[in-house]
Amino acid sequence: MCFHPCEAECSRNEIDQPLAICSLKRFLADYEYRLAVNGERLAVKTDNRITEKIAIIGSGPAGLTAAYDLARLGCKITVFEELPVAGGMLYAGIPEYRLPRNIIKTEIDAIKKLGVKIKTNTRIRKLSTLQKQGYKAIFIAIGAHKGLKLGISGEDKFACPDSFPQDSANGGGKGFLDCITFLRNVNLGKKVKIGKKVIVIGGGNAAIDSARTAIRLGSQVHIVYRRSRNEMPANKWEIKEAEKEGVKIHYLASPVKILGEKGKVVAMECIKNKLGLPDSSGRRRPVPVEGTEFKILADTIIPAISQQPDISWLPADHKLEISKWNSFVVDEETLATNLPGIFAGGDCVTGPKTVLEAIAAGHKAAKSIDRYLSRTPNPNPRTPNMKLQLPQKRKKKEPLCPSSL
Ligand SMILES: Cc1cc2nc3c(=O)[nH]c(=O)nc-3n(C[C@H](O)[C@H](O)[C@H](O)COP(=O)(O)OP(=O)(O)OC[C@H]3O[C@@H](n4cnc5c(N)ncnc54)[C@H](O)[C@@H]3O)c2cc1C
Repeated sequence: MCFHPCEAECSRNEIDQPLAICSLKRFLADYEYRLAVNGERLAVKTDNRITEKIAIIGSGPAGLTAAYDLARLGCKITVFEELPVAGGMLYAGIPEYRLPRNIIKTEIDAIKKLGVKIKTNTRIRKLSTLQKQGYKAIFIAIGAHKGLKLGISGEDKFACPDSFPQDSANGGGKGFLDCITFLRNVNLGKKVKIGKKVIVIGGGNAAIDSARTAIRLGSQVHIVYRRSRNEMPANKWEIKEAEKEGVKIHYLASPVKILGEKGKVVAMECIKNKLGLPDSSGRRRPVPVEGTEFKILADTIIPAISQQPDISWLPADHKLEISKWNSFVVDEETLATNLPGIFAGGDCVTGPKTVLEAIAAGHKAAKSIDRYLSRTPNPNPRTPNMKLQLPQKRKKKEPLCPSSL
């Protein structure tokens, strides 16, 4: 599950091969897991240095990591989570065959043991309500759950009305269902009806996970990806597994329109691409080749081309700085937003990234909130001027353009 970017950077590469950091960590995690299930895990040291109430919105890896670190300092943490289960994308996105649920549960139980309260089925709608309830700092870690639109004909007509981003078990019966909605429903144990012939659009891990999940529901699955295999952002080993399980991948092909009959999807028209010059992502741009249109029959189409944060819960007068990608604009070093006492991190700042990066954001947010509450200056020499109030000289972090398609 971890992309282990550290191994690519390992200096041992210059001699032969990288240290097997991912496998070593896996060994430690398995060892620790066994201790936890046998009740032999060592007690975590805590401190009572700061005892303020802190609200964390979102129980994904960013929110849970910040909760863990801050609880160890003595803070009273409440994590608010809109879904019925905690874990964020670890639970709602990543399929169980890749991340067994007992592992998530054990880790969350350990966090709860530190006194962290997790309120599930609770969608936050106003930050001011939390402030009135006495929360001295707020960490927004809401992830990126809103599927991006393809912008092709038929998309709106066949999309279930609440597919972007709210729940629907079966694409409203019309056949066009966003991948996050699809995976979330399967992972939450809902009865999900999809067709026999499924097309997944995209080349990232969400696309591969959607395809392999659909295979497990008994469908024949085609993936349509607009560039070549070399540019596909999904892990190479995941792509191989998907192919082994019977997923057919159409490389260098883009969707053109969704075709339907009697209000239901029946096929998707695609066009073949060739690779042109590199675009802003550094990958070669797909260029459609005229006259190469072809059709793939389908009764369900699952777009998995990237996501952005769902900020529809924020009231109109929220005053938070938001980027054109609907992500929160924060100071890169401290994760402070433009409003004092409000921090944001994880996918809701960077756009869809990785568990590892979300965990790193959680640690960073906890450190900043600690400094904010204990009124200590930032010891990091790169940001000597961090203020307790609004940081004036913020280095804005503009999220990268979503790039799964
Ligand atoms: C299908 C899929 C597969 C992936 N596979 C991998 C992988 O193999 N390896 C890897 O490293 N990364 C993977 N990722 C990416 C990884 O899961 C995310 O980068 C990571 O989970 C982001 O963490 P986060 O804490 O920022 O947000 P999330 O994990 O998305 O958590 C945010 C939480 O906030 C909640 N929330 C949102 N709004 C509100 C609100 N208003 N009130 C209350 N709660 C709210 C959401 O319900 C959610 O539970 C995958 C992602 C997907 C979608």
